[in-house]
Amino acid sequence: MAWLSEFSKSLLINRYLEGIVHWDSKYFSFALSADFIEYPRQSRDLSEGGISNRPGPKHFLLTTMCRKHESGKMADHKITVGNVEVVSVLDGYSAKRVPTETFPGSTIEGWREYPDILDENHQIQSRYGSVALRSQGKLIIVDTGMQTDPGGRLLDDMKAKGVDREAVDIVFLTHLHPDHVGWNLTDGKPTFPNARYLAPRSDYEYWSQPDVLSNAAHVREQVMPLNDLNLMDLVDEKYKITDEITTVSTPGHTPGHFSLIIASSGERAFILGDVAHSPAQAHYTDWNPIFDIQQDISRATRHKVLDHLEAESTLVSSGHFPDPGFGHFVRVEGRRVWKAL
Ligand SMILES: [Zn+2]
Repeated sequence: MAWLSEFSKSLLINRYLEGIVHWDSKYFSFALSADFIEYPRQSRDLSEGGISNRPGPKHFLLTTMCRKHESGKMADHKITVGNVEVVSVLDGYSAKRVPTETFPGSTIEGWREYPDILDENHQIQSRYGSVALRSQGKLIIVDTGMQTDPGGRLLDDMKAKGVDREAVDIVFLTHLHPDHVGWNLTDGKPTFPNARYLAPRSDYEYWSQPDVLSNAAHVREQVMPLNDLNLMDLVDEKYKITDEITTVSTPGHTPGHFSLIIASSGERAFILGDVAHSPAQAHYTDWNPIFDIQQDISRATRHKVLDHLEAESTLVSSGHFPDPGFGHFVRVEGRRVWKAL
């Protein structure tokens, strides 16, 4: 906890301390909670403007995201994994939700450990994020956002970040939920006019069952027309989109949900899809959102995937985590946390 001696600005709110620390020429924002592990020998009296060495009863633990910022700049939306370029693009944000309703197995006490995630009314909001991948001369968009709710801005954001929709070769859909297929078509025409659209075969088979399809307007409107236009390819596990990008089956959220592994020049990254929806699930890995269709399978998949990503220190891209969604699952004082880049 030596870095606490250099923290420059803090605000004590109820039982939480939030602030910014300057360390190693970088700025970190942080949130500390008093609820968990105690540091009896390192107790500090934390007060506005700095730390004194007076003995005090407050013991703090880093519990949530520790987001690194280059001095004063916005978080970087572009990273490279070997020779693959990954650009995080944004369609928008969900409506605000009561977290214990969205995650019925969760508790508000648990959520309070994540003050960066809860707003002032103790509600949460999900990002609708996609990534553009440049690999071996191909431009690939992973998922296409929500478009209509609450007014998607994916195309504007792509343009601002130098991603030309007409240059997109492949649209890859991790699964066929409405917030992942929203920009497949615009006014009935392919939004990405020169692209093939790829979807997991097993997810497509699930959604195309008549009784499922009859309740899935988004699939009828944003997926099925691609078939009629002969623009759709169904792919299986271990399918190579390029030599550097491979599908992996991560079922449960939807029956045929896929994630992607990027492996290039000795570096690896994992496109998570909807294996997890909130950084809180790094620790509360059992928490399932109501959106998970196969609840038990989803929970088992999340444990398996997050354990593996943590063990391998794999760089992760997550579309629903806070912008830009790049980070690692790491263990701090015995507790798994999402550490954003
Ligand atoms: Zn989603």
